[in-house]
Amino acid sequence: MAHSLLVMKFGGTNMGDANAIRHSASLAARSIREGVRVVVVVSAMAGVTNSLLRLADAAQSGDIAAANDEIAAMRTRHFTAAQELGAAPDSGPVREIRELHETLRQAIYGVYLLRELTPRSRDLIVAFGERLSAPLMSLALTGQGVRAHHLSGGQAGIVTDAHFGNARPLPGSYERVADRLGGLLSAGVTPVVAGFMGETESGAITTLGRGGTDFTATIVGKALHAGEVWAWKDVDGVMSADPRVVKDARNIEVLSYGEVMELAYFGAKVLHPLAVTPLRESGIPLRVKSAADPDFPGTLVQEDARDDAAHPVKAVTAIRGVSIINVTGAGALGVPEVVASLFDAIARENITLLMVSQSSSMSNVSLAVQSVYAARTLAALRASVTGELQVDEQPGVAVLAIVGAGMRGQKGVAARLFGALAQNDVNILMISQGSSELNISVAVEDAQVEGATRAVHAAFGLGEPVAAD
Ligand code: ADP
Ligand code: ASP
Ligand code: MG
Repeated sequence: MAHSLLVMKFGGTNMGDANAIRHSASLAARSIREGVRVVVVVSAMAGVTNSLLRLADAAQSGDIAAANDEIAAMRTRHFTAAQELGAAPDSGPVREIRELHETLRQAIYGVYLLRELTPRSRDLIVAFGERLSAPLMSLALTGQGVRAHHLSGGQAGIVTDAHFGNARPLPGSYERVADRLGGLLSAGVTPVVAGFMGETESGAITTLGRGGTDFTATIVGKALHAGEVWAWKDVDGVMSADPRVVKDARNIEVLSYGEVMELAYFGAKVLHPLAVTPLRESGIPLRVKSAADPDFPGTLVQEDARDDAAHPVKAVTAIRGVSIINVTGAGALGVPEVVASLFDAIARENITLLMVSQSSSMSNVSLAVQSVYAARTLAALRASVTGELQVDEQPGVAVLAIVGAGMRGQKGVAARLFGALAQNDVNILMISQGSSELNISVAVEDAQVEGATRAVHAAFGLGEPVAAD
């Protein structure tokens, strides 16, 4: 089906070097030549976001030499790519890349002098990755005869709250994006938007959380009423498991918005957990496609899960680096106010609970959280409970989840999951099933999670081809 407008997002690998960028640009150019209007949204070059986070930490701890070395390496990498994409030594894009590195160097020097890295300054620093890759995509498109113009997230109209590191778009973004990008599109210009970043109302740079370029693309898609959003990746699509862990993981043809959110939430790094929310509100489909195999359909994400009874489970995924926080104390937990105060304490800290379970004897409540938040969770709980209750942490845990709309109301799915785990001597620490019945999750020891993922993948036959209907 031909679309009049597509948003195309290119991930870090697809922006890895001049060749990858040229190939990505050719994928956009191909549709543009067919008469489709395209908005391109780009990630930072592969590895740059991590590098920026590292150098910010180095500056904060006083190691300015290490930070400067890393900036110099980044600068060379971006200059080389620009040159290979045909930029003349003193052309606009080269000057822009030089100026951005100079500003980055100054920001890093500020962090070094102050020995202070606030969430706000970290966002300013980490967003340079996308600000630097956008001009490279513009260059590549120009090289292929496409008129292009690049913009930062803020310039493209993405306004967010001030939740630095994990900002959310404000509703006003949609009109602004439509206005700013619509103008370029009607003038026959292809906008190139720096993903991952936005701006507060007062102009401070924010980021949307790791993997946030997916989110930028879907915000833009909703704003412009795109026919579809295409996320180009280095994998065939969303797969039945992380292909790095399960060798026979297969591409999933169709997933619902709800299924993909569960997958992303439970650790499938392939999409930002909130990426499909703007699309879900507007019914726009998302396609996850392989840049290496552009004619392969990839994964279609839409409202209808197209579940089939023979395959109730579509994927298995895991979150590593989890801790279980146990709250114990005979009797006290039977009092509803006590349990409520525990959850209040966690909510105030803005910590996401991955799993919750309460024993029926009411003497124990277990909470699974990312281990990085364990210390904060312990402190918050200890401050809110009376002496009768004991709070402790069990680190070294992972949460494994099976996802699929088809398991709703189906018997035997849980039995098959537990059977596979038991056969592989995997000890189950916690169990939960959401009321949506889109997933069942279990907490297991982290050391066992990769084996457990492979066993569960095999038990549900996820590596076998799905028969055509
Ligand atoms: P991009 O920069 O294109 O967004 P990411 O590295 O963020 O790329 O996401 C793609 C990666 O996600 C893949 O290379 C793969 O290793 C990982 N991944 C984890 N789980 C899955 C899954 N279920 N399906 C596909 N990829 C997955
Ligand atoms: N570059 C950012 C990250 O690595 C955003 C993205 O790639 O989606 O998290
Ligand atoms: Mg990503």
